Amino acid sequence: MSALDDISRPALSYGGGGGQVVLELAAVTKTYGQDPPVPALRGVSFRVRRGELVAIVGPSGSGKTTLLHVMGTLERPTDGVVRINGVDVAGLDDRRMAALRARSIGFVFQQFFLQEFQSALDNVADGLLYAGVEVTERRARAARALTQVGLAHRAMFRPSKMSGGERQRVAIARALVGQPAIVLADEPTGNLDSATGATIVDLLHKLNAEGATIIVITHDEGLAARLPRQVHVLDGKIISDSAGAVGYP
Ligand code: ADP
Ligand code: MG
Repeated sequence: MSALDDISRPALSYGGGGGQVVLELAAVTKTYGQDPPVPALRGVSFRVRRGELVAIVGPSGSGKTTLLHVMGTLERPTDGVVRINGVDVAGLDDRRMAALRARSIGFVFQQFFLQEFQSALDNVADGLLYAGVEVTERRARAARALTQVGLAHRAMFRPSKMSGGERQRVAIARALVGQPAIVLADEPTGNLDSATGATIVDLLHKLNAEGATIIVITHDEGLAARLPRQVHVLDGKIISDSAGAVGYP
């Protein structure tokens, strides 16, 4: 098939129960700049297994967005190891890393990042642009993803005609449409009022129950408390993990 098949090995399985490890960080550091260097991550280690719904929570400046970029292979760590589905991304050149990202990770951002003047359906279908799927199939899968997020009836609407909550549902459908190993959401309720935010959290629970592995980055302790696992970060370090994995390895 394609040259990418050698990076789609099955996920590693570790002892001790639970699902396969889909994401692993070991002693990851990230330092920005030189003069002076700004240490944004100072030795972060944790694992996420298939089927988890995890909150990474901490105050502004604690390193959450940097962590999202490193977990999502948008940035390389300064030191340490990042494994996606068992693949050490350090061994991949930029092209292969981008290919791994396109097939393994779905992103949801606070600002939605939708194309305002194309339909919700086409926005979601764009999530498959790099998957080598032809347009009819892209649209069929996009329609299913919109149904999953409760927006089947709005498929032909433009985001510019939608509420904030609906726009975030479209963005979530776009992240899910390729059935990625991991969905990374950065402050997904940050631009929404609290009632609408709560419906998005409910949706994340539903999608997780249907099989999606989701990591939510947030400064909102109340949101984090509603998810099954909380990883607290402060000053570029994990200070607690309700799954009990602090200090690994
Ligand atoms: P959070 O998302 O929790 O607010 P960030 O990951 O954005 O935290 O930032 C963590 C630290 O790294 C902060 O001190 C921030 O100023 C610094 N930082 C983040 N991105 C950059 C960058 N591109 N260049 C320099 N410093 C950065
Ligand atoms: Mg941030």
